[in-house]
Amino acid sequence: MEIGCALVTPPTRAIRVALDSAEVLSRYHEQRPAYCVRRSTLDPLLQEVAQAAGAELRDQHRVVSVVRDAERVTGVIAQSPNGPVRFEADLVVGADGPHSTIARLTGVEDYLVTHGSRGGYGVLPRARALG
Ligand SMILES: Cc1cc2nc3c(=O)[nH]c(=O)nc-3n(C[C@H](O)[C@H](O)[C@H](O)COP(=O)(O)OP(=O)(O)OC[C@H]3O[C@@H](n4cnc5c(N)ncnc54)[C@H](O)[C@@H]3O)c2cc1C
Repeated sequence: MEIGCALVTPPTRAIRVALDSAEVLSRYHEQRPAYCVRRSTLDPLLQEVAQAAGAELRDQHRVVSVVRDAERVTGVIAQSPNGPVRFEADLVVGADGPHSTIARLTGVEDYLVTHGSRGGYGVLPRARALG
């Protein structure tokens, strides 16, 4: 299954932000527009693709600790609506976001850390933002 961004959100070719008398118009490269897919759209699509590829989805499960065999991580314990559940695995992947529980529990060191520029996130009145 293929996810086509253009199927779930229209391409964004430019962004114009106007605040009081200041206005910024930023155009994307003609061949590379931006796609702002909502998580409420993207996440179910990713779930569908993963499940079609054979993944088993366990919603409402929060990893709370790792299972170890000596120094090797061999599984996780997750808190489910019905209590703790233990999962054994050949490989445990910590894909749990920027405040990763797996990273904290395994004590991995940061790598490829960059200190990029800061960005802002805000909501503007529609008439001002779109002109
Ligand atoms: C307000 C905001 C706006 C952003 N806008 C953009 C943007 O426009 N463009 C862009 O490229 N990036 C944007 N980002 C950054 C982008 O969201 C992240 O870089 C990206 O989501 C990171 O993906 P990830 O899969 O590593 O983590 P996440 O998307 O955070 O996914 C981690 C998943 O792990 C789950 N999880 C966490 N802890 C546990 C646990 N203990 N047990 C089980 N599951 C767990 C979470 O529920 C979540 O589903 C934005 C971020 C924010 C906060």
